[in-house]
Amino acid sequence: MSLNEDRGLLATRPQRGVLVVIAAAAIVFAGLAAAGTLAAPYAIAGFAIVALAALVSMRASEQSERLARPVAISERGDDLLRAVVAGLPDPVVALDRDGRVLALNERARTLAPALRQGEPVAFALRMPELIEAIGRAAAEGEEQRVVYFERVPLDRWFETIVMPVKRGPNAIRPDLVLMTFHDLTPLRRVEEMRADFVANASHELRTPLAALLGFIETLQGSARDDAKARQRFLAIMQEQARRMARLIDDLLSLSRIELNAHRRPDTPVDLVPIVRQVVDGLETLARDRGVTVHIDGANALSVLGDHDELVRIFENLIENALKYGAAGRRVDIKIGPGASADGVPEAQVSVRDYGPGIAPEHLPRLTERFYRVDVTESRAQGGTGLGLALVKHILNRHRGRLTIDSAPGEGATFTIHLPTAAAAHSR
Ligand code: ADP
Repeated sequence: MSLNEDRGLLATRPQRGVLVVIAAAAIVFAGLAAAGTLAAPYAIAGFAIVALAALVSMRASEQSERLARPVAISERGDDLLRAVVAGLPDPVVALDRDGRVLALNERARTLAPALRQGEPVAFALRMPELIEAIGRAAAEGEEQRVVYFERVPLDRWFETIVMPVKRGPNAIRPDLVLMTFHDLTPLRRVEEMRADFVANASHELRTPLAALLGFIETLQGSARDDAKARQRFLAIMQEQARRMARLIDDLLSLSRIELNAHRRPDTPVDLVPIVRQVVDGLETLARDRGVTVHIDGANALSVLGDHDELVRIFENLIENALKYGAAGRRVDIKIGPGASADGVPEAQVSVRDYGPGIAPEHLPRLTERFYRVDVTESRAQGGTGLGLALVKHILNRHRGRLTIDSAPGEGATFTIHLPTAAAAHSR
């Protein structure tokens, strides 16, 4: 356990000091005896007393030094411990049983930059429950787990496992304590997102359902014999039922795309006929809104994709441009080859409208599920709030991405970027 066990015959600092004192006493007493100042028996007795006192003080100082020294493992063991801790994938800190840091790896240093080797862990970690757990682990030899939440610099959750390490099964007290940190933040975020998603989906379904139930009651009661009211209410009920159907359809599409997220589509598909087919399908909506759609660019542009999912992307983007950008009366679609920032050849399709545009604070959140700039307007337009989330998920599956360029009063441009079939093959 002690460093000195490895040091063999080398004299320590107190030993060296005592040897000097004894040598000096021998010379002085020998000189006094030789000069006749002190009788030989007295000189020998004097020398013996001084030498004995020096030896006793040396033992005492060695003893107190041993007591003062922190519990340390041998230097070779120290190196091994540091190497093992450095090689572990999680943030790990090894402590002696007094809570002093013996070793820590880079990840632990990043997590708690105030941690210093040789210093008490309590100087760096200001979490009383964790410090208490370390104390308990060192005293009782039982594993402890502490989950804590950190607000600064970012919201993060951690679980710290404090593991006492004993030399042998019969050891009563642990020799050191290992502290491992697990970042629970991604798990917590997924849990939160799942809870939010269920709450949002239920809320979106409950609204049309409540409207349907209300109208059914009215039709059974006060409007029972009112043919005109019946016609009007049935039309509203039909619209609400359609809204529920759209929502369920979008929810199912999202979960289907998520299930296949890891499988990249591998069928060559030409984007140009898909865009034309979607524009043709939306002709009635464009006419109703008084919007003209222009398509410009390449005659053929192939990517590796899933035909139906690509149709879904363009339906969502062009429908949004027709609904939210109708005031601009014009939608421009550009199809062309391009390249990503790192030079990968891409197929790019941009849908540009000249409507009211979108304020910058909304842009990063538009692809979140159920995120809408204006909920009432989205509902009035028959929106579910899932369209752009679907676009993002489909593009992720195709290893593509969506960029949005917009400013209030200047319309909006939604551009999809997909690696071309040739680029996808060469990868
Ligand atoms: P929704 O079903 O509500 O249309 P989306 O996910 O397709 O859901 O769009 C999310 C929100 O983004 C819309 O509610 C709307 O506020 C905004 N948005 C989408 N496209 C445009 C656009 N071209 N111009 C202005 N706002 C848009």
